[in-house]
Amino acid sequence: MRFNEELAHIATYQAGKPIEEVVRTFGLDEKEVIKLASNENPYGTSPSVVECIKANAHKAALYPDDSMCALISRLQRHYGIGYGQCIIGAGSDQIIELCLHAKATKSSKILMAGITFAMYEIYAKHIGAQVIKTPSKEHNLTEFYELFRQHKPDIVFLCVPNNPLGECVGAKEVYELLAHIEQESCGETLVVIDGAYQEFASYKDSSKHIDPRDLIQHFANVIYLGTFSKVYGLGGMRVGYGIAREEIVQALFKLRAPFNITTLSLAAACVALEDIEFMQHTLKENFAQMRRYEEFAESKGIEYIPSYTNFITFVLENPYNSSVICDTLLRQGIIVRNLASYGINAIRITIGTQEQNSRVLLALQELV
Ligand SMILES: *Cc1c(COP(=O)(O)O)cnc(C)c1O
Repeated sequence: MRFNEELAHIATYQAGKPIEEVVRTFGLDEKEVIKLASNENPYGTSPSVVECIKANAHKAALYPDDSMCALISRLQRHYGIGYGQCIIGAGSDQIIELCLHAKATKSSKILMAGITFAMYEIYAKHIGAQVIKTPSKEHNLTEFYELFRQHKPDIVFLCVPNNPLGECVGAKEVYELLAHIEQESCGETLVVIDGAYQEFASYKDSSKHIDPRDLIQHFANVIYLGTFSKVYGLGGMRVGYGIAREEIVQALFKLRAPFNITTLSLAAACVALEDIEFMQHTLKENFAQMRRYEEFAESKGIEYIPSYTNFITFVLENPYNSSVICDTLLRQGIIVRNLASYGINAIRITIGTQEQNSRVLLALQELV
């Protein structure tokens, strides 16, 4: 069968290996397997979310409230934005896809960092748009600006902080770039600020904090993306959101499929947003545990990228090979992310619980 020719240029997204697959392949006990490959919350989710899901289970037969007003109004309050300035997606992933469909065509150019979230490129290629990447792997906003001037892209993706590397550009620099882009494109270039890990970055360093309300007050051509999958521990519920001025939100709404978020997911996200204690606990533990990985890397002379997220990336050098290391860990039931497919010899480890990290560090100790 012949398919859309754009498919020939698309590599299938490789998600972190599921625990079930590792159990089957290596004959391990499910309890022995730890998954630190997809930046999920190792502390689970808020206990009140679990209660809420149970309490709402009987609603499964009915379609969800497609206006999603309960969640939108909570996000509205949380961020101090207008009601029409928010759209919900099945993960912020879905909002990325909507942005591409709303703005890009086959002749578009899409600008992003040398190494960044893989879905930007995958969705760009669905449209057949041309992807432009900065020469630097990490975000270098000078390069972004030069390439913007040269190519006049329809969309610029800034991942703040960046996945899978973990670095984070400062809010001030982002605003400076945005001012140039808005002015020089006459507001025509859409800038996507992916804030999937913003809660982590803001906690560690307030100079990295991007406030969506302030952002859209200043710029008409920007959309901020947030997700419940990371700090809120709802990866399995698939809820994300976009915050932008009404004009952008309305365009995305036209493309949204009805009932794209489940009733239980909407209810869970509403409750998750209110549990500040759970979030604070996650943030505090995350950075305390991250310190252990940094100390390990320092003691072994391994390069790591200072991280503003819930993962840390080790950049390896000969004779160490990320594929070999990931494979060896996998056999012991430890799933981490091999970044070889991004063209670098590096591994990305989601920061786990204290016990999980102890196991990972012990295993790494034997390898390097
Ligand atoms: C995890 C992640 C997302 C979105 O995750 P969803 O589960 O689809 O909400 C978006 N951007 C980045 C950079 C991420 O790491």
